[in-house]
Amino acid sequence: MKLAKRVASLTPSTTLAITAKAKELKAAGHDVIGLGAGEPDFNTPQHIIDAAVKAMNEGHTKYTPSGGLADLKAEIIKKFKEDQNLGYEPSEIIVCVGAKHALYTLFQVILDEGDEVIIPTPYWVSYPEQVKLAGGVPVYVEGLEENEFKITPEQLQSAITERTKAVIINSPSNPTGMIYTKEELAALGEICLKHDILIVSDEIYEKLVYDGHKHVSIAQISPELKEQTIIINGVSKSHSMTGWRIGYAAGNKEIIRAMTDLASHSTSNPTSIAQYATIAAYSGSQETVEEMRQAFEQRLNIIYEKLIQIPGFSCVKPQGAFYLFPNAKEAAALAGYHNVDEFVAALLEEAKVAIVPGSGFGAPDNVRLSYATSLELLEKAIERIKQFMEQKM
Ligand code: PLP
Repeated sequence: MKLAKRVASLTPSTTLAITAKAKELKAAGHDVIGLGAGEPDFNTPQHIIDAAVKAMNEGHTKYTPSGGLADLKAEIIKKFKEDQNLGYEPSEIIVCVGAKHALYTLFQVILDEGDEVIIPTPYWVSYPEQVKLAGGVPVYVEGLEENEFKITPEQLQSAITERTKAVIINSPSNPTGMIYTKEELAALGEICLKHDILIVSDEIYEKLVYDGHKHVSIAQISPELKEQTIIINGVSKSHSMTGWRIGYAAGNKEIIRAMTDLASHSTSNPTSIAQYATIAAYSGSQETVEEMRQAFEQRLNIIYEKLIQIPGFSCVKPQGAFYLFPNAKEAAALAGYHNVDEFVAALLEEAKVAIVPGSGFGAPDNVRLSYATSLELLEKAIERIKQFMEQKM
């Protein structure tokens, strides 16, 4: 069967592919340490699980409104108000099947064939594919390592054409862990307002910030920028709820209505039970969110110091999320490989450490290591990389 042109150039997620390969080696009896995963290693807090069980026992196992339960929207609205002092109406919120699906639905409703979306590199693997699936054209702007992988207003300005529809801002960033400051966001926002470009602000790592760094949403800067922005967020990373699949979008009513209409013909609604669990996640104690954040911060500080001691690795210290994104070009060369992709493959085969090549994120000289795993395993993995380098050099 000939598949549709739409999916002909679709590349599977690099991160999921590496995780699958590591699992395969593990199943074959190899002692592999996987640092590829993009999900917290903690279990979902118990009170959230209890709320889902209660919802099931009470019969909340039926269709819900396509855009999400009214009570959940109310909790999301409360969260926006308390955390970011942003006011939204229920008609400006849609609950989706994870933040990934919120983004997917958004691009489907805003892009026509040939519309351009500016994607700063390094980028999260799904942005370009989602834009292309909606008929859009990704336009890459390079966030330089010397500028903490962030794009400048000048770079943004020069990437704009008549077809530019939107720009994606992901702060804290996957894969770099970098955070845009309020001033940086204000400067980028000014350009977006001038050219009427929609800002897609992916804030899924909002709660995971370290060393005193603060997350600011571009929508907080001014009412005009709030109008111009669709915020994407969810509970996958903050509450360790990746499998529950709940994310959401907030912003312009027309866009949210179109997304809700589309959802009514695709998913019908996000899982009812997961929505009840998310109500509990937001209405209950946030202590576990902070405990997880502290655990990530501790790991980051320990393994960052160890990683930069390994010959050939240099790394801008991440400020948020749970990834290190070192430059490994020199390490690959020192170990005798042509490029970082080959180096990463050898590391998995020989040292049994799974990390993700930066090529999947539009940054082929870098690699991504997730520290969403125990400190013990992280230290073991870093030791293996160090020994691998010593043997090869
Ligand atoms: N946005 C970014 C930057 C991510 O890293 C991820 C998950 O890896 C998502 C969105 C999707 O999150 P969700 O699990 O809510 O779909």
